[in-house]
Amino acid sequence: MAQRVTLIPGDGIGPELAEAARRVLDVSGIAFEWEVVDAGEAVIAEYGTPLPEHVLESITRNRVALKGPITTPVGEGFRSVNVTLRQTLGLYANLRPARSIAGIESRYEDVDLVIVRENTEDLYGGIEHMVGPDAAESIKIITRGASERIARFAFEYAVANDRYKVTAVHKANIMKLSDGLFLEACRTVAEEYAGKIEFEDRIVDNMCMQLVQKPELYDVLVLPNLYGDIVSDLAAGLVGGLGVAPGANIGHEAAVFEPVHGSAPKYAGLNKANPTALILSGVLMLRHLGHPAAAERVETALREVIAEGSHLTYDLGGSAGTSDFADAIIGRLVGSAAATPAVTPAPTPAG
Ligand code: NAD
Repeated sequence: MAQRVTLIPGDGIGPELAEAARRVLDVSGIAFEWEVVDAGEAVIAEYGTPLPEHVLESITRNRVALKGPITTPVGEGFRSVNVTLRQTLGLYANLRPARSIAGIESRYEDVDLVIVRENTEDLYGGIEHMVGPDAAESIKIITRGASERIARFAFEYAVANDRYKVTAVHKANIMKLSDGLFLEACRTVAEEYAGKIEFEDRIVDNMCMQLVQKPELYDVLVLPNLYGDIVSDLAAGLVGGLGVAPGANIGHEAAVFEPVHGSAPKYAGLNKANPTALILSGVLMLRHLGHPAAAERVETALREVIAEGSHLTYDLGGSAGTSDFADAIIGRLVGSAAATPAVTPAPTPAG
């Protein structure tokens, strides 16, 4: 039976990347049935909201979605669709791996970091108000429950994926109550994994410097929402930029897979943007759905195309279009499937 997945193409470069990712995943060896639903700026005129109810219903029903980026107006306008989706569906863990890819020129060769970002609270609650005409206040919420939940996710991820260390990142020297609570929750959870997974903590400013100077010292990082957002862009920069950084938003009831990057409006419709981040988000989705072999096949084909170097998009120093890059991956996947000898079914035991 085909695996049904909600596909949200998104704004800006989203639709062309979604098309590329869908074509690649369709030759992964897993049969998909894509339920395409639109959200974002383009649907406001029709539905009066950038996130219509039927989009949430589709994700809730299918329990898994692949999503392109959605534009959020700066300083005014509607609330972020991305944040609303994560909060409404309880997608509490934002997983953002940053792993070097051979063939991409960057300052390091062997970066292998996993960012685990708390996705539901912190300064993303949208609780802001003016205090008179010349001051504004944003409320930062950190709870023990959400902090312990994300810390446990990070440790469980580490155990399940043969990682050795979790580093909690905070600013508890200044925000002694809110970040202090986050750190305390991480320490409490870390005790349950003592002897199995190492634990340490870093102040966020120091963490940024350390990641730029010696990323090889770090493994899995767990952070509150805002630091997680910023540090994951930093980590993306260590491995070749936003065009290659995938992500997953995971909850108990559903999971939404999307790149770290945004809608890059200036490249929209030009067939220039790099679909790697969305395709690798699809690889995370395949693993989440229990298809590790298909995930491995797609990731290997993508890495081979990048290493070979003649179908690179502009951000990686090439001049190939979004669709050419996808075609090169599809060529490898289809070619390797054709080269694999057909499996002869084992004879049924007699009797
Ligand atoms: P952005 O990530 O869209 O783009 C920043 C720059 O990164 C681009 O100009 C481009 O140079 C590069 N880039 C990004 N993706 C690329 C790709 N796939 N291939 C090649 N180069 C790529 O960040 P921004 O300009 O700050 O944000 C644009 C919009 O996206 C904003 O409205 C923002 O709110 C939104 N956004 C959405 C999400 C999401 O949907 N999850 C995430 C981040 C930003």
